[in-house]
Amino acid sequence: MNILIIGAPGTGKGTMSEKLIEKYGIVHVSTGDMLRESVKNGTEVGKKAHGYMERGELVPDEVIHDIILERFAQKDMENGILMDGYPRTLAQAEDLDTILASLGKKVDCVLNLELDEQVLIGRITGRRTCPNCKAIYHIQNMPPKVEGICDICGSQLVTRKDDTVESLRVRLDAYHESTKDVIGYYEKQGIVKNINADQSVEKVFEDITEALGECND
Ligand SMILES: [Zn+2]
Repeated sequence: MNILIIGAPGTGKGTMSEKLIEKYGIVHVSTGDMLRESVKNGTEVGKKAHGYMERGELVPDEVIHDIILERFAQKDMENGILMDGYPRTLAQAEDLDTILASLGKKVDCVLNLELDEQVLIGRITGRRTCPNCKAIYHIQNMPPKVEGICDICGSQLVTRKDDTVESLRVRLDAYHESTKDVIGYYEKQGIVKNINADQSVEKVFEDITEALGECND
């Protein structure tokens, strides 16, 4: 089964991806990973991509296309693919369909993790990080034993620059702007499943499993 997972920062997309990989034996792909891999393997298209990256330029869509085609044709993809962070635009979504069709595959299910903006802001801005050992806390959900102090190493906890309301707003706006066309595109195919991410990890994953069952019918 080929799945696309979509979710704003703070919706638990990473956790759900890990659980999906474990349960279904599918391969997780992001364009960043695929890019690095093809550059490392020194393939023809990898060399091309490397040129753009070295010049500090954005790797163009047609190169991304070739990289995806190369990766998706590999043997380990047969169980299924979990796509994350791609496609980001309508053009990429259409292109992805073409790539998959040429390999006799298709997107079977789009999981759209939904979370109320206020809840999301609470999740992210409540995070505290230890600059020393990188442990992560949350002022409500997972507070340290002593306020502001890391349980593990005793360092003073900090709020990451990305975890402020202002920074999050910018990221959320960009997220909604880039995903709304993609979600609309797959809605027309009738394969979008909206998942309520404001539940326990177990319940969210249960809903995902159920949604995948419906997509597979
Ligand atoms: Zn620490």
